[in-house]
Amino acid sequence: MNAKSRWIQNDWSGDADEPTPEWASEMVREVLGERQGLPSIKWYHDADWECGMCHFWDSLPWLSIVSKTTDRTDDNCMVLLHELAHVILGPPRRSVKRYHTPDFWDVCIPLYERHGLLEHAAKHESYAGGRKRAAKRLAEAKEVA
Ligand SMILES: [Zn+2]
Repeated sequence: MNAKSRWIQNDWSGDADEPTPEWASEMVREVLGERQGLPSIKWYHDADWECGMCHFWDSLPWLSIVSKTTDRTDDNCMVLLHELAHVILGPPRRSVKRYHTPDFWDVCIPLYERHGLLEHAAKHESYAGGRKRAAKRLAEAKEVA
């Protein structure tokens, strides 16, 4: 099954395509520390698609990352940090599931900032709300500098 079919069917039960790159494991440890119980990552390959997904099906969250490459690119870092923000927030509690709330961006945007990704996120974050907030934070940071 390719990554797109997995996404459409929401079936991430298969084996990963690639071993999780070391830089990604390090970023997970750096962002979450040891206290939270570290999520496992399954890394899938797709020729022209990038996305991430955070699952809370078991007691520990786990992440699916789909990417053209396992290299430490800005896109891969952004996707991983976005999913780690979901891990930090935990599963949404309300019956109406909204994942990308203002609370979410309050966690996610500082992670982008800390990793030098605001400019990238302002252009390439998949969600318009994220692009807008990254651009806003970038403008604020420039004012101070
Ligand atoms: Zn998300």
